[in-house]
Amino acid sequence: MGIKIYNTLTRKKEEFVPLEEGKVKMYVCGPTVYNYIHIGNARPAIVFDTVRRYLEFRGYDVNYISNFTDVDDKLIRVAGELGEEVPVIADRFIQAYHEDVQALGCRQADTHPRVMENMDIIIGFIATLIDKGYAYESEGDVYFHTRKFKEYGKLSHQSIDELRIGARIAVGEKKQDALDFALWKAAKPGEIYWESPWGKGRPGWHIECSAMARKYLGDTIDIHAGGQDLAFPHHENEIAQSEALTGKEFARYWMHNGYINIDNEKMSKSLGNFVLVHEIIERHDPQVLRFFMLSVHYRNPINYSEELLENTQSALERIKTSFQNLKHRIEASSNLTENDQHWLDQIQQQHGEFIEAMDDDFNTANAISVLFELSKLANLYLMEKNTAVTVIEAFINEFETLFGVLGLTLEEEMLLDEEIEELIQKRIQARKDRNFKLADEIRDQLKDMNIILEDTAQGTRWKRG
Ligand SMILES: [Zn+2]
Repeated sequence: MGIKIYNTLTRKKEEFVPLEEGKVKMYVCGPTVYNYIHIGNARPAIVFDTVRRYLEFRGYDVNYISNFTDVDDKLIRVAGELGEEVPVIADRFIQAYHEDVQALGCRQADTHPRVMENMDIIIGFIATLIDKGYAYESEGDVYFHTRKFKEYGKLSHQSIDELRIGARIAVGEKKQDALDFALWKAAKPGEIYWESPWGKGRPGWHIECSAMARKYLGDTIDIHAGGQDLAFPHHENEIAQSEALTGKEFARYWMHNGYINIDNEKMSKSLGNFVLVHEIIERHDPQVLRFFMLSVHYRNPINYSEELLENTQSALERIKTSFQNLKHRIEASSNLTENDQHWLDQIQQQHGEFIEAMDDDFNTANAISVLFELSKLANLYLMEKNTAVTVIEAFINEFETLFGVLGLTLEEEMLLDEEIEELIQKRIQARKDRNFKLADEIRDQLKDMNIILEDTAQGTRWKRG
């Protein structure tokens, strides 16, 4: 039995068979970097990081690509408002994005391509679409001829004629048909631009993902993922562009994560319930937010509230307490007895159930139930009069493995800044007292918590690693 993935394209759970044995080519649509990320952006980051970790746990070599949209209308607007250049804004929010998702336990992608760094391949892609008759130039803009791509609508399961009903040509657009979409936009006076065969301008949004996915992963990729809101029109347009150009299937499995509600309401700027990740993780352990996101299956909607997050925190702490109790018990434990085999079997069974849950379209909600079950078993075992080192270690290893797959750690909560300062003062005093052993111990203790110290002539500085 292998992994099953719900494919938006077929609306079915399908057995996952990658193009090349043992390898997965995965592309996840990344953020437009004009602001700090909100909780809605955090969900795909966490969900697809977990998918990647699980695929690796199951032995696949995953090439994970996630883009940054670093030039578009929103970036141009924000740059204008702040009186700064677009690349400056983009750099700032790319940095902030990395900090936020790293705190949430997400690993960096193998490559995070940016539009500005791939302008040549994007322009080349558009030029080829024009050559093949799938796109046309109109007064400095370039549009995709949607009707020329006969399978348009296959991802969102709508026909071209159904889609035509809601489509409009907006003011300033120079397209022939309301369903056509921009591949290249002519620059307005004062806007950032790149030179192209159609004059000064910049790419439309959809083309970057087609061009960059192809550059880094080839004509056909295994998994293409993103938020449910991207399925139409963004992903539909990506399919049209890519398949028109290559004549091959673009992505074999399409995964989409569900929406987030805030206090049972849709998140929107106008409702003022826009929750930024960096604000949440100032108040809560970021691991709690990750655990919370994974406690619901990725395709289901999730409701966020402070209260739910606090409940999650106590649930997570219960598991961590079991883990700590196991660690404290090692020294008082002895050799295996006959009775212990039963416990080892139980751990093995939970391991199997975790895999079964995750194989079933990455059902992290059920996988987390397994963690609670394992914690319950550990607590029961710790009530036995005699415990065996082998069993305690098996529990510990199992917790560490399964937490690792979900991108969670069992370490203590992060130190507060004041606690770090206090330790640094203690270390300075220890050095004055020539107690170098204690000074080194403190340095190592901080290092274990990812705090890097730097001794300078002006004193000791620190940063989080
Ligand atoms: Zn995309």
